[in-house]
Amino acid sequence: MFIGHYAVGLAAKQFAPRASMGALIAAPILLDLLWPIFLLLGWEHVSIIPNANPFLRFEFDSYPLSHGLVAVVGWATLYASIYFGVTRYVAGAIVVWIGVVSHWLLDYIVHLPDLQIYAQSRMFGLGLWQHRWLTILLEFGLFAIGIGIYQNRTKPKDKVGLYGFAGFVAILLLAYAGVILGPAPGSVKKLALFTLITWIAVPLAWWFDSHRTISASADR
Ligand SMILES: [Zn+2]
Repeated sequence: MFIGHYAVGLAAKQFAPRASMGALIAAPILLDLLWPIFLLLGWEHVSIIPNANPFLRFEFDSYPLSHGLVAVVGWATLYASIYFGVTRYVAGAIVVWIGVVSHWLLDYIVHLPDLQIYAQSRMFGLGLWQHRWLTILLEFGLFAIGIGIYQNRTKPKDKVGLYGFAGFVAILLLAYAGVILGPAPGSVKKLALFTLITWIAVPLAWWFDSHRTISASADR
């Protein structure tokens, strides 16, 4: 799952309006921020295999540390604790905890059975990726809902708030189009380095969100 994770971050604004979008976006994509680091360290493993279906090009051989459910709950708790320690915002801490765990649940829908609960457990995954158009429909549907909720809950204070957010959406759509239409990365190292670029989404989200404010209509 790709843009669907970002949708969770955008929608989270509804439930924790005072939280920065930087923190809200980081939560549902946290596992994929860690994964490329663990790949580069050699702690987790993936294989790139040729396939006409762009979603089935990666075989996730082992990634219990970033994507095993027990570890995921740990990451969620660690992240929510740090978030609460810094901000003292209870709603925000709850929402980011749910955000991190939501990653596993959304991945569970699309991944082939390669997701574990812990390192030695059996594999889980409903395999929606085998149906490429249904996957794309689900991702776009979630993304549209996320954008709708965020736009309804906030309004731009200035041009950065307006065009920064539009640019953020455009970059994600282009990146997703690249995943669907582009070639597979030539090596695992390239895949990891490419995935590392997603870290940029966090400061970018903080930036446009700081130029938006809670809309009066939604501020009950
Ligand atoms: Zn993932």
